[in-house]
Amino acid sequence: MTSQNTGGAGRLPQQRRLLTEIPGPRSRTLQERRAAAVPPGVGSVLPVYVTDADGGVVVDVDGNSLIDFGSGIAVTNVGNANARVAERVKEQVDRFTHTCFMVAPYESYVQVCEALNRITPGDHEKRTFLVNSGAEAVENAVKVARYATGRQAVVAFDHGYHGRTLLTMTLTAKNLPYKQGFGPFAPEVYRMPLAYPYRWPTGPENCGPEAAALAVDQITKQIGAANVAAVIIEPIAGEGGFIEPAPGFLPAIAGFCKANGILLIADEVQTGFARTGDLFACEHEGVVPDLITTAKGIAGGLPLAAVTGRADVLDKVHGGGLGGTYGGNPLACQAALAVLEEIERLDLTARARRIGEIMLPRLRKLAGEHNAIGDVRGRGAMIAIELVRPGTTEPNPELTAEIARRCHAAGLLVLTAGTYGNVLRFLPPLVISEELLNEGLDVLAAAFAA
Ligand SMILES: *Cc1c(COP(=O)(O)O)cnc(C)c1O
Repeated sequence: MTSQNTGGAGRLPQQRRLLTEIPGPRSRTLQERRAAAVPPGVGSVLPVYVTDADGGVVVDVDGNSLIDFGSGIAVTNVGNANARVAERVKEQVDRFTHTCFMVAPYESYVQVCEALNRITPGDHEKRTFLVNSGAEAVENAVKVARYATGRQAVVAFDHGYHGRTLLTMTLTAKNLPYKQGFGPFAPEVYRMPLAYPYRWPTGPENCGPEAAALAVDQITKQIGAANVAAVIIEPIAGEGGFIEPAPGFLPAIAGFCKANGILLIADEVQTGFARTGDLFACEHEGVVPDLITTAKGIAGGLPLAAVTGRADVLDKVHGGGLGGTYGGNPLACQAALAVLEEIERLDLTARARRIGEIMLPRLRKLAGEHNAIGDVRGRGAMIAIELVRPGTTEPNPELTAEIARRCHAAGLLVLTAGTYGNVLRFLPPLVISEELLNEGLDVLAAAFAA
């Protein structure tokens, strides 16, 4: 992974460079203005104000160049400010910026849908339609599933995250900060246990089959399988803490759905587009969902999301039942087409796997040196460590926040996650150079040593 084949990275030096403390004086001034203009409910992980970004670095108003282990939450998989994405968007912006696909359509929308139908798991006939955000995709997948099955109940899982709109925050497991005070919630949403290997009472080896049996039993007894329209699951729980369901869990749930006429919705909003080392995380265990929601990594940061699924399911909905003013905006569609080309041209699934091969052994070594690291997990470039009180499995959110703070101060942008707030998650752009990746890991190791 040298800088000349990182997909356009090269405009900015791929380096960590600190000119001021973090955040610097200009960022702090902007932060004061923001406090008077933006409500505090909208947070920022690291309030450095960005002026530029490229490949694996983000540059702020004070001239600091930070290593990016966040990709704007798994969005800039093809690198920050990918040159080919920028080119296609620039060409489009001079032609037309909007017609509304529901008013007068354009080819790029159809091209994105054709591509998603081709590359998502399963070789059955598929359809896709485009919306603006992950939450909107999830809402629409549930609408379609209810329409197609004539059933109402929707099953989600512990540690699940599906968005912040009324239905999607209802589907989301964690109360604070997503749900507190925002109720009442949408009806007919039920929650089941997730196969969380690190915290499974009888041990990780038993976790997959036991958790699946428990979920199936509860769905059958508490809801009735015949009342369930859809089961929605992230193939790796993202905001919930990068929890890879134990082997066997997803296939068992998929099998149960199939046997009972329940539609399986894979929420691949965070796991999609090469992030986990497969194009989609479902592929890892050969699971083929009926519907799949995508967003985040789809268009290099331009707002776009999609619902893809079985043609016989999606074709049921009456004309005009689906859509939205901006869904599949032409700039976002051009960006998505560039992203799909870049994933192939730069072999980003292989790069994601290589990132995992570098990170996992180094993090396991770090865990051997610091018993506050209870678990190291993830696939490809979706990697996390879970922090606990030494010698226990008790979550340690305070240390997690402290390590993140030290990383930020040293110029490494990391994110936290987890139901207990005790997970440090790493989502570097897939084009990051090995040097920068290793330097980021050095910064993390120093934060633990301090
Ligand atoms: C981020 C996320 C969403 C919501 O996407 P938005 O674009 O923020 O609405 C839904 N599901 C998963 C798995 C996510 O990670």
